[in-house]
Amino acid sequence: MKVYLDNAATTPIDPEVLDAMLPVMKQTFGNPSSIHNYGRETKALVEQARRQVASYFKVSPGEIFFTSGGTEADNMAIKGAVEDLNITHAITSKIEHPAVLLPLENLEKKGKITLDFVKVGNNGHVDLEDLELLLQKNSKPAIVSLMHANNEIGNLLPLKKVAELCQKYHAVFHSDTVQTVGHYSLDLTGIPIHFITCSAHKFHGPKGIGFLYINGNIKISPLISGGSQERNMRGGTENVYGIAGLAKALEIAHRTMAAQQEYILGLKSYMIEQLETKIPGVEFNGDAKKSSLYTVLNVLLPETSKKEMLVHFLDISGIAASAGSACSSGSNTGSHVLRNIGTDMNRPSVRFSFSKYNTKDEIDYCVGKIAGVYKD
Ligand code: PLP
Repeated sequence: MKVYLDNAATTPIDPEVLDAMLPVMKQTFGNPSSIHNYGRETKALVEQARRQVASYFKVSPGEIFFTSGGTEADNMAIKGAVEDLNITHAITSKIEHPAVLLPLENLEKKGKITLDFVKVGNNGHVDLEDLELLLQKNSKPAIVSLMHANNEIGNLLPLKKVAELCQKYHAVFHSDTVQTVGHYSLDLTGIPIHFITCSAHKFHGPKGIGFLYINGNIKISPLISGGSQERNMRGGTENVYGIAGLAKALEIAHRTMAAQQEYILGLKSYMIEQLETKIPGVEFNGDAKKSSLYTVLNVLLPETSKKEMLVHFLDISGIAASAGSACSSGSNTGSHVLRNIGTDMNRPSVRFSFSKYNTKDEIDYCVGKIAGVYKD
């Protein structure tokens, strides 16, 4: 049996998305910057996709900028804010994605900003009182960057509450929403947020395409210059079939969202229940049973001498899961997220992440294989 439970890393493309992309690859091949008929046709397609994307977030199409994905969008927001909005102070958490942590740490090294890390509790939630203290005590113009859902443990941030706190202290607010766009309905009306980010391959769209939402009240410079594409905000010929695929994937996600949420949450709850029944001592990293992304379950297993081999063993059994961003390069330092929420690193942790294509049979197979490790 082959079981794919690594959907937070990437998802398989939806065939309906592929069907929307193929004619664009085959026929709508004009360069959107060309003024002839071929170019105009492609340009119309890109602008239609932008309008469609904007409508799901109730924002203006002029606030959506297509990028190569989440990493670029995060970089563009952070570097642009520091460069152009006179930001000299940043607040983030130690459990952010490297697409946020690395640019911020580099800006700090270059002396462009001071960087504060907000406290994170053992349950993986950002301490909002500490955030307010950090905002209060620093009078320099600040950017706050906190992710909407953590890609390793699934914890959800109360986006509106944090946005309002930032507004109270006149801070710019960026949220990496890569794990929530396409999984939740995100109406930005009434949320005072400046930047959100998207990556299509996290919700059955193609890889190499995403977007950055930039609130119309602020203006930053491009990260990539060289052409007048994206209204002078991102040089380079547009990834036209990617854009068409992103729009289609988002349309499907929003059309089927309620049913998918219920179905996938059902799978996650079932896996929790099965693991608790079959593996005494099992626990879950983060806030798995409460304020948590329904697609992610980070399992803290009992200690075993087979810890280092666990993900490989699952792989040999046909199961794709992830040990977080840990050990992928052979390092034994483990996941920065788990370390920073005080997880017992002597015990194995495995992240399982689900999609609409998973089934209860697959969960049974997977739990059976893990339980087997503790029986031998
Ligand atoms: N931010 C988060 C929370 C992610 O999970 C990912 C994907 O791993 C990214 C950013 C990067 O997105 P992309 O792969 O589109 O560059």
